[in-house]
Amino acid sequence: MSISRFNAIDTILNRQDGEFAFFDTPAELVSEYFGVNVFNDEAMQQFLSEDDYLSVKAAIQSGAKLSREVADLVANAMKAWAIDHGASHYAHWFQPWTGKTAEKHDSFFTLDSQGKAIEEFGGNELAQQEPDGSSFPGGGLRSTFEARGYTAWDPSSPAFIFEVGEGKTLCIPTILVTYSGEAMDFKLPLLKSQTALENAALPIIQWFDQQATQVIVTLGWEQEYFLVDEALFNARPDLVLTGRTLIGKLATKGQQLEDHYFGSIPERVFAFMRDLEIECHKLGIPVRTRHNEVGPAQYELAPMFEEVNVAVDHNQLLMDLMDRIARRHHLRVLMHEKPFAGVNGSGKHNNWSVATNTGKNLLSPGKHPGKNLRFLTFFVNTIKAVHEHADLLRASVASASNDHRLGANEAPPAIVSVFIGSVMTSIFRQIEKGETTKEDVKVVLDLLSKIPDLELDNTDRNRTSPFAFTGNKFEVRMVGSQQNCSGPMTVLNTIMAAQLQAFKVEVDQLTQKGQDRDAAILTVLKGYIKSSKAILFEGDNYSDAWEKEAEKRKLGNEKTTPEALAAYVSKKSIKLFETVGVFAEKEVKAFHEVQLHKYSTTLEIESTTLEELCLNYVLPASMDYQTRLASNMVQMKEIGLDGKHVEFASSAVKRIAKNINAIYHLIEDMSEARREANKEHDSLKTALVYCHSVKPLMDKIREHADDLELIVDDREWSLVKYREMMYIR
Ligand code: ADP
Ligand code: MG
Repeated sequence: MSISRFNAIDTILNRQDGEFAFFDTPAELVSEYFGVNVFNDEAMQQFLSEDDYLSVKAAIQSGAKLSREVADLVANAMKAWAIDHGASHYAHWFQPWTGKTAEKHDSFFTLDSQGKAIEEFGGNELAQQEPDGSSFPGGGLRSTFEARGYTAWDPSSPAFIFEVGEGKTLCIPTILVTYSGEAMDFKLPLLKSQTALENAALPIIQWFDQQATQVIVTLGWEQEYFLVDEALFNARPDLVLTGRTLIGKLATKGQQLEDHYFGSIPERVFAFMRDLEIECHKLGIPVRTRHNEVGPAQYELAPMFEEVNVAVDHNQLLMDLMDRIARRHHLRVLMHEKPFAGVNGSGKHNNWSVATNTGKNLLSPGKHPGKNLRFLTFFVNTIKAVHEHADLLRASVASASNDHRLGANEAPPAIVSVFIGSVMTSIFRQIEKGETTKEDVKVVLDLLSKIPDLELDNTDRNRTSPFAFTGNKFEVRMVGSQQNCSGPMTVLNTIMAAQLQAFKVEVDQLTQKGQDRDAAILTVLKGYIKSSKAILFEGDNYSDAWEKEAEKRKLGNEKTTPEALAAYVSKKSIKLFETVGVFAEKEVKAFHEVQLHKYSTTLEIESTTLEELCLNYVLPASMDYQTRLASNMVQMKEIGLDGKHVEFASSAVKRIAKNINAIYHLIEDMSEARREANKEHDSLKTALVYCHSVKPLMDKIREHADDLELIVDDREWSLVKYREMMYIR
């Protein structure tokens, strides 16, 4: 029997109080258990001799390839620590292009040559594993000669113990590559982009600060999500299979009253959040804020920012944790960017900055903005980089699910622009007007020093902007809620690295000609301010006027994924990725291929699911009601009442018939369009047919189905309604 709306609601109403219990905290203070499940510095010190600890630490910090000896030392310590914590297995944990995390578990237990049972885990097992590469999307990278894939240890992100029920597994963050070393995951390109940015930024930073020897890219994400009751979730096949509702009439109460945002958190949700936070803290994920979001049943969670690679791992881990922990509370997390049409969608803001090992945030004007030409340098270069490669940044957030969100008057549009706030705007105007002599540098710095408080100026920032300066960091607001942050972070690091390389060349040329360096810097920055003006926008990004204005400014506005993704494989981007050393041409083409394929597959699943929903739920319910209305009309006629006495029944019957017919024909057209799409041999062509033929038909079907939901007897409608998913807690 399928689960209908009615038994789902019964299940909820009959739940016992005990099922919503709060879980125990491991200790009173978070500081007492933060990171207990992480093989962190403390654990290393405890499980390595002092000498070994120091040599391992130095080797890891150098960033160079680790020797077998060091790997053995770490592996031994890790094994002892993990077994001490009750772990029985270890797994290489990685992030293939599917977007989800993957892991392959192996037991520590093995038999030695004499057949004796032992626990084993050495440098080899730590450093490399060989999962079956053919189960992960590689965009044709391997098919020709080698099917195997390899995972290799990433020592820059700490290993951790993942607990599932009683089972504990030591998870080792790794990259996934082909036999010949090409990337097949999100982590390797991210690490390469980080290195590239570090190398490009360091010589420039050293103009200002000789002490700085390392550059740290920082990321603080904010994760939005929805929660629905598990009984309701299970009664919606579309949520189960596609993560979003493919049909469903908007509830009569939506977010108009704005009473949910920052409202008090429902008790049951609070229990989930607390439980989640405890698990996060044990895993060293520094989550700090939680609150309701704009949509009913929508929430947000944010940690303190961390080094980008670790922050990405933590976000991936968090998404996994959320799903598991929600189930303990009879809830389901919806990570999809748009689970409910007509209600605010979910994003994942990526707050990005660059810092030095001397503790300076390069995007913060600091306490002495009057001395801070460094801030202006990194600030202007970021804007210039975004202006040069806006299309690539847009491509990095493209997905079938994020298409529902971008440009839907709730999330930034598909047009990339940069918001910098009124103070920086006026400083830019003055720089543009002024000269660039040594004295003018002083004038500009003087302007900066008069900044009342940049952070204050930008806290009330423009929430419609896709890329906003927020006082001491840039916030990328286009990222989708279920996306791996690596995609956009890799692009941002890459374009910034390329930009800084170009900047250094330009400044060096001027100083070689004898110009004072500060004046040379100002000269180049002034040029950038002028040439990247088109990307700056302070107004309402949701307005139609902006769309027109952006067109005049020749800014890109790719609204759909297949078109947006093309930016990855343009000549310009391939050259960029190769020069900076993030992707070889072959790799970026494979990545592009995988993304297109993912797009088409998503739409194929959605479209076939929609077809089933119509055939198995919408049409039968509507026809039953139609029959009742028709027999009512017949009976009314028998007692001599027809015509104006049966106006409602007669109009409703007609309305139902019209919708049923329309759905029938649209479903036929939609299967034909799918066949057309799948006939294409080129992934781009397939994706385009899905995008421009299949998807519009899905939208039309939905209109008719939603109209039926409105008129059909509530008792006949077996699919859970929006109002129930959003308001039953
Ligand atoms: P919002 O108002 O957008 O909700 P919050 O202040 O709640 O913003 O969140 C800001 C996010 O920015 C947090 O995750 C925080 O850790 C992060 N953040 C703050 N400073 C930096 C920085 N220098 N680099 C990266 N992220 C940062
Ligand atoms: Mg934000």
